[in-house]
Order: sequence, then structure tokens, then C-alpha cells
Amino acid sequence: MKLKALTAFYLTLVLLPLLLAWMGARPPRGIPDELATGAGMLAFSIILVEFILSGRFRSVSSGVGLDVTLRLHQLLARFALVLALVHPFFYRTPFARQLPWDPTRQLTLTPDFWAMAGGILAWLLLPSLVLLAIARSKLSYKYEAWRIMHGVGALLIVGLVLHHTLNAGRYSEDPVLRFVWLALSVGALATMIFVYLIKPLLQLGRVWRVVSVTPVANRMWELILKPTGHKGLKYKAGQFVWLNLGHNPFSIYENPFSISSAPTSGPNLNFLIKELGDSTRLIGKTPVGTTAYLDGPHGNLVVSGRKEPGIALIAGGVGIAPLLGILRQLKLEKDPRPTVLVYGNRAEDRITYRDELESLSRDHGTKVIHVLSEPPPGWTGRTGIMDAKLIAELFQSPEMKDWLYLLCGPVKMMTVTEDELIALGVPSNQVLSERFNYD
Ligand SMILES: Cc1cc2nc3c(=O)[nH]c(=O)nc-3n(C[C@H](O)[C@H](O)[C@H](O)COP(=O)(O)OP(=O)(O)OC[C@H]3O[C@@H](n4cnc5c(N)ncnc54)[C@H](O)[C@@H]3O)c2cc1C
Repeated sequence: MKLKALTAFYLTLVLLPLLLAWMGARPPRGIPDELATGAGMLAFSIILVEFILSGRFRSVSSGVGLDVTLRLHQLLARFALVLALVHPFFYRTPFARQLPWDPTRQLTLTPDFWAMAGGILAWLLLPSLVLLAIARSKLSYKYEAWRIMHGVGALLIVGLVLHHTLNAGRYSEDPVLRFVWLALSVGALATMIFVYLIKPLLQLGRVWRVVSVTPVANRMWELILKPTGHKGLKYKAGQFVWLNLGHNPFSIYENPFSISSAPTSGPNLNFLIKELGDSTRLIGKTPVGTTAYLDGPHGNLVVSGRKEPGIALIAGGVGIAPLLGILRQLKLEKDPRPTVLVYGNRAEDRITYRDELESLSRDHGTKVIHVLSEPPPGWTGRTGIMDAKLIAELFQSPEMKDWLYLLCGPVKMMTVTEDELIALGVPSNQVLSERFNYD
């Protein structure tokens, strides 16, 4: 889905309850009370739609990219938290029994503890959920443990807030709004059922097996998978999948990895994997024949369909993985556009596929620029870090403003590069990036 369609879809879902409440013919209360109710309702609808922004829906993650999706997820969660926290404090209407001459509860708030309990519990739980997510990388528990806690916690909050909304909400007495709250809550639950039950069931019929695991540089491995009993994956060069290696498809042990092969090179999929934590550290020990399941393709770091007159690929370390897939595809398609690859690494032994990159340079004319921050004696290539100065120097010529730029690497490198390219006059829609870390 394209950005405009996704934005319209998102806003419709999030604003629908407020719109229905506004259209309902209830006599208004004072501004603070309406603000309090509005803040609570908006917080709840944002929380419900957060489930779609989990990064597991292809139409979203391929439309705007995983990092944008997850950044939005994080920012909107914080906004919902603020709204939820202020929600109870604006009310001026007193808590009291409903008055017989006030059927729309314009004059009193319900004092029923049962109706309030869900809201109070959710009000206490939501900050923990958001703060634990913000602090995740600094806490010592495993990524998978956090993932379960985050999913279960979010569902629990939805259940509690739904109970509170339907029982204490003045506007939720309207049957249409009641139905919308229920439908959105069922939708949130359905996203979890889809991700954790339906997708794995579908994956059962699409088994992959490990063909080889080969070291390609210091602590970097090439993993090749082949489809078993099916034709493989339809993807675009530069996209990524959630890879479940050696577990059953219902397992939560799956990690995102970019595909480094070219779609037209055949059904096998290549990955370039850097040893980092619990699962990637063991990647080199994966036996040939190990079963794998894939969820994807996701991501919008793609050249396919882009008409820019030149292509610049800027990679740091293992960020070369998706860009390698793109370079391989451009070569297979004999794409005539000028192509530049800037590939930064700390040390020479971290450079992957050096021979292949040299042959790309020879056969396809790709200009390959290696940059090392810790060069060995005798290194004749560029040295230093990939900073604004280097980017300005390499991409200053006026016609390069019209090029397409694809970035993948450490967050700092990408931020500096993005800022510098924009400062050089490159429109932001010509700069695509994929972040491997979205903390
Ligand atoms: C879109 C995308 C594409 C990627 N492509 C590549 C690639 O081609 N090659 C490569 O080497 N690395 C890639 N990564 C990074 C890779 O996913 C992590 O290095 C890997 O998941 C770490 O797993 P671990 O169990 O070894 O480390 P852990 O110690 O468990 O985790 C280290 C960090 O990795 C991240 N991480 C761990 N598990 C997951 C998970 N299931 N989902 C999301 N993040 C997780 C978390 O930030 C965590 O803090 C990519 C990441 C993303 C988001």
C-alpha cells in the first residue's frame, strides 16, 4: 500500500470513534470533560491500531519500510501513554449515581468501581509496557522474553480498557460506537492470531532447508536456503524476511535478515549474517539440511520500479547484505544506469565478497569505494569514517541530486549520510534506508 493510502487508512481507524462520539446527539459538557473523554478515546484507538504497526504486516512494512513503521509504533505509543495518563485528571463532572432526569449522563460520572477498575489497572500497566519497551536494550532479559511480555501485556491492556470503555464510557452507550470499539478490539486480537497462528500454519507448507553455511569474513557467514516442495519466494532485491532457523513455525525464535541474493538468480535465497547475540553467534554451527521457515518478504529498500538516472548504495558493515542483493539484480538485468557503492568497514578482514565486488566493477561498471576506519599498513583505499565530509565529496556533482540513494548500516552513519544528502539538495523521497536496529 502506498503512503497516502496507509495514512488515510490509519487516520480513519484512529479517528472513527471520536467522530462517532462527536456526531452522536449527546448534550455537551464543559470543555475539560470533553477533553478528558476525547483523550481517553484517542489513547484507546491509537493503542488498538498499534497492533497493525507491529512490523509484521507486509502491506505496511513494504509500503513505508520497517524502520518507519516501528518508529511510528514507538512514537504513537508514547503519545497514547500521555493521553491515557492525563485522561482522568481533566474531569470536572462529579462522580455520582445517574440522575433519573439525566439519561445521557451529562451531569455525573459513574461511581461504579467495577466500571472503573479496568481503566485504573490499564492506567497503571500502560506506563510499564511503554517504559520496558524503551529500556529493552538496556535490560538484560532476552529479546524473545520481551516479545512475549510485550504482546501479552498489550492484549491485557486492550481487554481492560475495553471493559472500562464499554462500562464507564458515556459515548459508548451508543450502539454504533460500542460496535466499533468491539470490532477494533477483535481486530487487534485477530492480528495476534494471524501472526502467531495463521502465518505459521501457512508456513508449514513452505519449508526451506539449509544448503550451506560458509564464512565470508571475520564473524560473517553466508547462509543459503533452498525451497523444499515449493517454488520459493517472490521478492524484490533488497527486501528482508523473518527467518526461523531450526525451530517449528510456531516458535517465537525468528530474526529479521535481508536477502542478499538477486530474485532472478533462482529460487535459492542467500543471507549474509553477522555474529551478534544468542542466535547469530551459533549461525556457523547450523547443520546442512536444517529446516527453516520464512515470513516475508518485507521492506521497501528496493530499486525495482524506480526511474532515477543513477544509483548510489551506501553500506556500513553487514549493511551490505540488502545492497548486495540489489547490485546482483542490477547486474543480472544489465541495468545501464551509473552505480556507485560506498562500503565502509572497520578493518580489512570485515570486507565481504571482495572478489565479487571487483568483478561487478569490471563487468557492470559499478564504482566500488572501500572505506576503512582502521586500515592496515599499505592500504591504498579511502580511510576514516563515513561522515558528512566524505558524502559531500563523493556526491557533490549537480546531476547526482537526481540519483536514488540506498543506505544500510549503523544508525549514526545513516543519520549523518541522510542529513548530508538532503543538505546537498537530494529530495528525501530519493533516499531509502533500512535500519537493522530500531531501539
Ligand atoms: C530489517 C532488518 C534486516 C536485518 N538484516 C540483517 C542481515 O542481513 N544480516 C545481519 O547480520 N543482521 C541483520 N539484521 C539484524 C539482525 O536481525 C540481528 O542482528 C539479530 O536479530 C540478532 O539476533 P541475536 O539473537 O543473535 O541477538 P540478540 O542478542 O538476541 O539480540 C541483539 C539485538 O538484535 C535485535 N533482535 C534480536 N532478535 C530480534 C528479533 N527477533 N527481531 C528483531 N530484532 C531482534 C534486538 O535489537 C536485540 O537487542 C537485520 C535487522 C533488521 C531489523
